[in-house]
Amino acid sequence: MLCAGGIDNARLLLVSGAPEAGGLGNAHDNVGRYFQEHPNARCAVLRSPDPSALQEPYSLLYRRRRRYLPKLALAPAVQREERVLNCGANLEYDYADEALNALRRIRRGLGAEPERADLRRDLPLAARGVRAATATAYRRFVHGRSPAAPPATVWLQVHCEQAPNRDSRVTLTRERDAAGVNRARLEWRLTDLERRTAATMVATVGSELRRLGLAEAEPAGWLSDAGGDWAERFSAVYHRIGTTRMADDPARGVVDSDCQVHGIDGLYVAGSSVFPTGGYANPTLTIVALALRLADHLVRRSQRW
Ligand SMILES: Cc1cc2nc3c(=O)[nH]c(=O)nc-3n(C[C@H](O)[C@H](O)[C@H](O)COP(=O)(O)OP(=O)(O)OC[C@H]3O[C@@H](n4cnc5c(N)ncnc54)[C@H](O)[C@@H]3O)c2cc1C
Repeated sequence: MLCAGGIDNARLLLVSGAPEAGGLGNAHDNVGRYFQEHPNARCAVLRSPDPSALQEPYSLLYRRRRRYLPKLALAPAVQREERVLNCGANLEYDYADEALNALRRIRRGLGAEPERADLRRDLPLAARGVRAATATAYRRFVHGRSPAAPPATVWLQVHCEQAPNRDSRVTLTRERDAAGVNRARLEWRLTDLERRTAATMVATVGSELRRLGLAEAEPAGWLSDAGGDWAERFSAVYHRIGTTRMADDPARGVVDSDCQVHGIDGLYVAGSSVFPTGGYANPTLTIVALALRLADHLVRRSQRW
């Protein structure tokens, strides 16, 4: 069973087996290819005479120790009409209040984003804004809502589906890790379809917010420049998809519908590397569902022995 994540699943197949075969399960040169992520970027500023009106319905909501993030998604009809991919978005807020920003950086730094932590800088700033901090803490812990202060800038953060692209891929480098195994090289390649999808999302959300009288969307300039550096504006969000994709036809994928590597009895793969496509939603629930399905398959298989 291979379950080393979306990059290492491909890497371990590529370094295994006969080198002349290009690794294990790679008879059709599909291992490591079709790498997909969820391209993520702040694609527009939402200008509003009343930014609080954008904060209330769309900001993080805390209930019973759970955190909810309201998201917008592109309707299937729009995807069909505009011939674009699936796409999600959420609103992000910057605050002019230095103390509040320091508090938010401390919170993120202590959580999932330690690179944001700089306690020597942020603790004194947060202490200077005790009143704002108290109001924020009250609202957050009593009402489960975002900070009391109106945001200075509201962003539309877009995260879109990526189309499977054969040239977006994991390969091996000559460099080796401590165990003597070749390290992976990632060439994450987007196509203009992802740019158009994000631009369609901005236009669609913008026209709806205008219709509701809530805001005007000001798209990022780079988003409309098809020949520019738009691809570099998108970041990845640790969702590594597609490098051992599932397909019934061995020529078109690496694993079969039971997650078994084509042609290699008993070698299975778990994780989002088996997804043929990635949608726009976070992958882990689907990873878990597929792992449970694979477990059922292995139990049935063991009972046949
Ligand atoms: C900060 C952060 C936030 C995230 N938030 C979300 C979220 O909100 N929702 C969501 O759906 N997903 C989220 N993800 C993505 C989620 O973590 C992954 O989709 C999920 O963990 C993938 O599961 P996996 O079992 O395929 O791989 P992993 O969880 O990456 O597990 C792979 C394991 O294999 C081990 N390994 C790797 N290489 C080797 C090797 N060569 N030999 C031996 N062992 C090896 C690794 O150490 C690791 O333990 C987030 C990820 C990060 C980093």
